[in-house]
Amino acid sequence: MFSAPPPAAAAPAAAGEAGGGLASEGPALSGELGALIARTWGIHRLRPLQAEAMAAVQEGRDLLLVMPTGGGKSLCYQAPALARAGLTVVVSPLISLMKDQVDGLLQNGVAAAMLTSAQPPGERRGVHAELERGRVRLLFISPERLMMEGFLAELVSRGLEAVAVDEAHCISHWGHDFRPEYRQLGALKRVAGVPVHAFTATANRHVRDDIVAELRLADPLLLVGACDRPNLVYRVIPRADLRRQALEVIARHPGRAGIVYLITRRAVEELDAALRTAGVKSAAYHAGLDAATRKRAQEAFLNEEIDVVVATVAFGMGIDRTDVRFIVHGALPKGLEQYSQETGRAGRDGLPAECVLLYSGSDWHGWRSLIEKAHAEAAAAGRPAPPEVLAGALARLGGMMDFTTRFLCRHRQLVTYFGQEYAPPPDAPPGAGCGACDVCRGEVAAVPDSRVVAQKILSCVVRCGERYGTAHIAAVLRGSSSEGIRRARHDELSTYRLLADRSAAEVRAWIDQLVGLDHLRIQGDRYPILQLSPTGREVMTGRRDITLFALPAPPPKRRARRAAAEPVLPPAADDALFESLRALRRELARARGVPPYLIFNDRTLAAMAAEKPRTTAELLAIKGVGEKKAADLGPAFLARIAAHGAGSR
Ligand code: ADP
Ligand code: ZN
Repeated sequence: MFSAPPPAAAAPAAAGEAGGGLASEGPALSGELGALIARTWGIHRLRPLQAEAMAAVQEGRDLLLVMPTGGGKSLCYQAPALARAGLTVVVSPLISLMKDQVDGLLQNGVAAAMLTSAQPPGERRGVHAELERGRVRLLFISPERLMMEGFLAELVSRGLEAVAVDEAHCISHWGHDFRPEYRQLGALKRVAGVPVHAFTATANRHVRDDIVAELRLADPLLLVGACDRPNLVYRVIPRADLRRQALEVIARHPGRAGIVYLITRRAVEELDAALRTAGVKSAAYHAGLDAATRKRAQEAFLNEEIDVVVATVAFGMGIDRTDVRFIVHGALPKGLEQYSQETGRAGRDGLPAECVLLYSGSDWHGWRSLIEKAHAEAAAAGRPAPPEVLAGALARLGGMMDFTTRFLCRHRQLVTYFGQEYAPPPDAPPGAGCGACDVCRGEVAAVPDSRVVAQKILSCVVRCGERYGTAHIAAVLRGSSSEGIRRARHDELSTYRLLADRSAAEVRAWIDQLVGLDHLRIQGDRYPILQLSPTGREVMTGRRDITLFALPAPPPKRRARRAAAEPVLPPAADDALFESLRALRRELARARGVPPYLIFNDRTLAAMAAEKPRTTAELLAIKGVGEKKAADLGPAFLARIAAHGAGSR
């Protein structure tokens, strides 16, 4: 029940899985394309797979590139698009995603445009006119608009050179984000006859095969990047007090950006209110709020007026703020696909960021009921889904619960789940594991007598006739003298009081772990009851080994000290200057009516605060500073750096 989908075997025709993830960057750029990239984006080195991907795009070969969020997929179609004459079309599922990309490109002086249903007709006519004059280099568009009768043929006559399909996993039934509109892209190759390049962050083998088949890619180059994000620090903690635990994380990142994900709208509103009462600059975001309120929250976040968004999964796609320093999951996500996608929004600038998952076994039970109910309702409404859909959803949920309860490096677990081999980052000290998760950092300890504790719990479940839920079993083990226990005469069992010296939170967390490890199964619909699985019987009779997590020490101060935030700035950087540059960025952004991250990202500002450039040439040597921005924004930043130097002397 809890097993992950069959591990995806090594990709056929893959040009190798790139090691190192985001941190390592390749050799310095050369050639015409390299000069163009340096000039336009201020990028001087490529990341893994970018060179291979761009070579395929330039050769006109079809391509599927799977690379984690923030890995730099967009450069792979944008740079070649500018290096050749003609038009490149980019298919994207969401208007907000397109808008971010187009705004970013315009800031860098690139002729980009978009066509969406949200634009006033006059604006759309303007874009059509620009297309006719051959002035647009990159056109962003939704699949249904691109496939509208005759439009694609028209684009071909206007010099269409290639189509890039972003978020390509949306085409697959097996993916976690299927969008029927994407299926129309099946006709793309036939009608347009140009190279098609597909991009996605999360795709296991199944989904990859679907993308290639559905888009009718011809002999595509398949590139699968290392899906590890070494700059993310993962922590998984049983949920005890959501408000307190969320505030602890926020306190580690004062004045920095973060997102708290919750499942229900009500939970979102409650926590948002509690955070604001505690003085956090936060806003709520969920699909039940009206469009104007949602837009306000999103813009306040992008413009750095607020630090925290408390949201349902409705918030996310299109949030291109690259300096998100933490993601808190206040409840278990539906699968590791969603979890990686949501945590992937942290640290897109490559600087350290923290991902904290607060979970409880009841989340798992709630999801399972919802998934089964949705499946049954669809069937009852005459829209039955194939059995794979239910099986797939339950397997994804099982994989998620495994992740929380296995006493194994979180980075390793994630990478293995997505069908790759895990290798710790080259700079990690030997034997230290990934160095970036609670398990490898020793923040969570194993329960010393795990086996005995597990045996006590499992025998108690059996003694109670496998007819009771978590709360009752925990109460019996702790020797509670409640009415229910006396009535069932469970105070006479040999397992009564066996864990009297442990806290209720501990016992419940261990039961959750036993569920997560599939030694206990939750059955029953209205009243969830615990039963042993075959492996649970093996653990109970001592034929199978087990390790349980100890709960972190309760005083919040101690945990906060142990789980310190990563330093974001390089050691040489001047803290006060960095803050001053961030303030300047906000001012300039406000004056120009664009979000601050489009001015420069944190990584670039941190480099400025360390290098303290004095001339335009020195400024251009900093990553993220292209010619357009150096000319346009350079004077203001150089002046601020110079003034800071004078002030501190
Ligand atoms: P993805 O689409 O894969 O999620 P993006 O294309 O949005 O990621 O890239 C994330 C960030 O990384 C952007 O700010 C982008 O400018 C930057 N970036 C891309 N390639 C490089 C590179 N080779 N060196 C430095 N920064 C890069
Ligand atoms: Zn680890």
